[in-house]
Amino acid sequence: MSAVVEVVGLVKSYGDVPAVDGIDLDVGAGEIFGILGANGAGKTTAVECIQGLRSADAGTIRVCGLDPTRQREQLRRLVGSQLQESALPDRIRVREAIHLFSTDRSPTGRLLETWGLSERQRTPYGRLSGGQQQRLLIAIALLNSPRVVFLDELTQGLDPAARRETWDVIRAVRDEGTTVVLVTHFADEAEALCDRLTVFRAGKVATRGTPAELINRHARSALVSLRLRAKQELRPEPIERLDGVDSLDIEGDRVEIRGNSRMIAFVCAELVAQGAVGDELRVSQGTLEDALVEMMGEDG
Ligand code: ATP
Repeated sequence: MSAVVEVVGLVKSYGDVPAVDGIDLDVGAGEIFGILGANGAGKTTAVECIQGLRSADAGTIRVCGLDPTRQREQLRRLVGSQLQESALPDRIRVREAIHLFSTDRSPTGRLLETWGLSERQRTPYGRLSGGQQQRLLIAIALLNSPRVVFLDELTQGLDPAARRETWDVIRAVRDEGTTVVLVTHFADEAEALCDRLTVFRAGKVATRGTPAELINRHARSALVSLRLRAKQELRPEPIERLDGVDSLDIEGDRVEIRGNSRMIAFVCAELVAQGAVGDELRVSQGTLEDALVEMMGEDG
């Protein structure tokens, strides 16, 4: 996987406030890469430095092999960026906004259709709903077929159905070869969309990996529950000894085993080996949100 974004040792402070404090990132071609973190963790600052919108205090950044501050003009043709809401004047019409940002004059009909804006071409930006405004900003980021697109709080203000539709479109954008860097504080969005992600905390990288890796590493809320068959005796020790198991509770014929997600396969295998699996085996995984909450708790 060749790197589209490579960052080593990025540092950026505002006066005495260190916003980004030594971050490394590598984003591979054709992936959806998430940057996650609480408010103030340094996500926006890092992404602004990566796009050449702010100059870093230290570190090296390459985007498509280019230095974003010294080769900004060349880079602009390769990068799409979601504008902040305030970037468009209220009176500009949808079609005018698209033409303003389109450099190759390629037909934009399909893009407008994809984002549900075909019927709104003459509507001024200020008269669009919040969701339509958001979709227009995403459509603009995807104009001119960028190699990499930066989307900051992609689904802010969208209703649940529009959020899911947006996720599908972003997956399709990735599948057509565009690399997507997604900045978000929504763990469910990152879990649903990202191939890999990095979690920032207080300007540093707290953890990184695929959503499944982070869930396995940090979430301790996986649950295997079952109801024993009549007269079935369960031997608890072999289960309690398994990697990732935190607790085993037996109450009458009900059994609940809790722990880390990676225990699930081992626990099920042991239950099968003991002949304990009846009709009521249930398994639930932790989510990425559980992983993040529990990770913050571990270190906090
Ligand atoms: P959010 O999710 O709230 O957008 P973030 O993770 O994107 O947060 P940043 O906006 O990069 O974080 O902010 C990181 C830190 O830098 C915070 O402490 C913030 O208050 C501070 N900061 C950000 N922009 C500026 C600025 N222009 N001047 C001074 N301090 C700033």
